Amino acid sequence: MQLNKILKLQPILFAIYFVIFLYNENLDELIFADLLLPFAVIIPIVLLFSIVIGLIIKNDTKSILSSSFFTILFFVYIPLHNVLYEFQIGRHVILLLIFFICSLIVIFFFIKSKKNFDKLLQISYVIVLVLIIFNISEISFYSNISSITMNENLIQSFSINKQDYRDVYHIILDEHAGTDALQQYYNYNNSKFDNSLRNMGFFIPEKSLSNYLSTYLAIPSILNMDYIEQEFDPQEKESNILVDKMVRNNVVTKIFEENGYQIIYSYNEYNLKPTNNSAHELCNTSIGSTQFMTFILDNTPIFIVQSLIEQGNYSPFVQNRLCVFNELPFLDEEFLGPIFVHAHVLLPHYPFIFSSDGSINPYQTQMTRDEFDSLYLSQLMYTDSLVLELVEKLLAKEPQPIILIQSDHVDRQEETDNSNGYSFSNFAAYYFPNVELKTNDYPLLTPVNSFRILFNNNFGTNYDLLENKMYVIEDNKFKDVTTTLISNNTFNKID
Ligand SMILES: [Zn+2]
Repeated sequence: MQLNKILKLQPILFAIYFVIFLYNENLDELIFADLLLPFAVIIPIVLLFSIVIGLIIKNDTKSILSSSFFTILFFVYIPLHNVLYEFQIGRHVILLLIFFICSLIVIFFFIKSKKNFDKLLQISYVIVLVLIIFNISEISFYSNISSITMNENLIQSFSINKQDYRDVYHIILDEHAGTDALQQYYNYNNSKFDNSLRNMGFFIPEKSLSNYLSTYLAIPSILNMDYIEQEFDPQEKESNILVDKMVRNNVVTKIFEENGYQIIYSYNEYNLKPTNNSAHELCNTSIGSTQFMTFILDNTPIFIVQSLIEQGNYSPFVQNRLCVFNELPFLDEEFLGPIFVHAHVLLPHYPFIFSSDGSINPYQTQMTRDEFDSLYLSQLMYTDSLVLELVEKLLAKEPQPIILIQSDHVDRQEETDNSNGYSFSNFAAYYFPNVELKTNDYPLLTPVNSFRILFNNNFGTNYDLLENKMYVIEDNKFKDVTTTLISNNTFNKID
């Protein structure tokens, strides 16, 4: 009797397996808590479903197996559809009909059958348990993966008086193209934004290029003030997890901590946290959890219904993005002592929530390149207006803070073939209250050096500047494209 009750859990175990499987597949972007919502929604539904099936099919073994059968079908339908789509037979109308008829036939003969299915139940029970255990052990393996050791040699003590420590704001505008790239790709002149910042005292380098073309390489490189040495394969889960660890245990945060700073950072759905201490996290609107739930549902037939009726929802994104700009001006009042604020804002990065005047766009997931460009540009304009407003508030403070605004890369990875360099043209602006940076000293700046420059100019450290290099990934290996880029006309000013 007791065993029978345990066996009844089988459909739930299958549901748990599929959720854990999808979690495992996206481990680098998810946190453990993201599992809770899917479990809280899916387990009760499967349970209720099994009870209903149990009322229809009186035989216990048969009712458990039928419930499991439908649970599996629910989770494999979309992946199967996607595979079949390549063979032109994956249209939902046809496939759903085939599935429906086949399941009816299977269930009909199954119920009518005089055979004893206890063995099948036991075997499938063992299979689902093994699958769950396998996935859990893989998750725990990757979670405990050894981190690349931080370069402790880079940790220097500040040599200025403690009372002269200023607050430091590091604002990453994800995918904000540099003024050159905006002109080249979007035919848009953004020099007004640059000039507004210059008038407020910002230094904007003549040429600013990114070192890498993706967030997952740029951010760890910026925060570790160095190039990424290890082999990197964007398809490999292990690479992505190592990168995540490089961000969590990074040199820049460590330097600030060692010198008595408090670390504050803002949340976004990439979950790239610059510290293991989540005490001072801002703006966590749990986009990750909602996104994971949506991702799971997008992998089930609910997706078909959903895409017909529901239009999606930008509100957690709107809240998250605006929260950063609303909170930043007040942090110095909230925290005693010097603060280092790392605000990685997914703007003007996709999804395109805002139009240029700040109104919220209708929900949209599919767009042409032209639509993408125009939505991107619109969101960039609004982002710039938010930045100017924020900077004005920060500069009104006494003493004035140090501000570094930069983008990680440009959204033009497909353009790297022509190597004209614009795909590396990113945005960077430095505000050092007591120091005037000169174009002659930094004719070209790349993010790998930004914190070396920031520390040297404001805190009396003596970091060597690294040679500026740009990398693309080819055949899962870094390819240095610096010479090609710099020998090109576009960047003939740079030696
Ligand atoms: Zn990015």
